[in-house]
Amino acid sequence: MQISLAKLNLIKRYAAEAYPEECCGILVGTVSRFLNGEKENVVIEVVPCENVLQGDRTEGFEISVGQYFQTEELARRHHYQLVGSYHSHTKAPAIPSATDCDFLPPETSMLIVSVSERFVKEVRVYSRMLRSRLYDDVYEERLQFRY
Ligand SMILES: [Zn+2]
Repeated sequence: MQISLAKLNLIKRYAAEAYPEECCGILVGTVSRFLNGEKENVVIEVVPCENVLQGDRTEGFEISVGQYFQTEELARRHHYQLVGSYHSHTKAPAIPSATDCDFLPPETSMLIVSVSERFVKEVRVYSRMLRSRLYDDVYEERLQFRY
């Protein structure tokens, strides 16, 4: 997945500000697929969303269906797609939970920021193989910077 340093820093800031709750948002940009089966997700815009989880928001997040579709519609109007999502982990490393894996649509990118006491510990990106519903097929994606 490609993202600019400025956009990544924005996500880190949202994660620190939301602490001790998890932050979440949608990544908008372009999704390209190549003949060799490789894909390339490029983030153009970062759309912060409200964490609407009913329950302990220090241990989970939920993006409202309304905000999700609103963002998808906005992206489409600008000829972009939904590249994936981001959220923070405030009590755990940047490794996807079973719930994260369950809600990761194939070929989208899921960026996780690990925050502790408002300091960003690490950032990792994950994706899932096409046509797969197994946790085992979630893999770590390379994070590349673009200008
Ligand atoms: Zn998570």
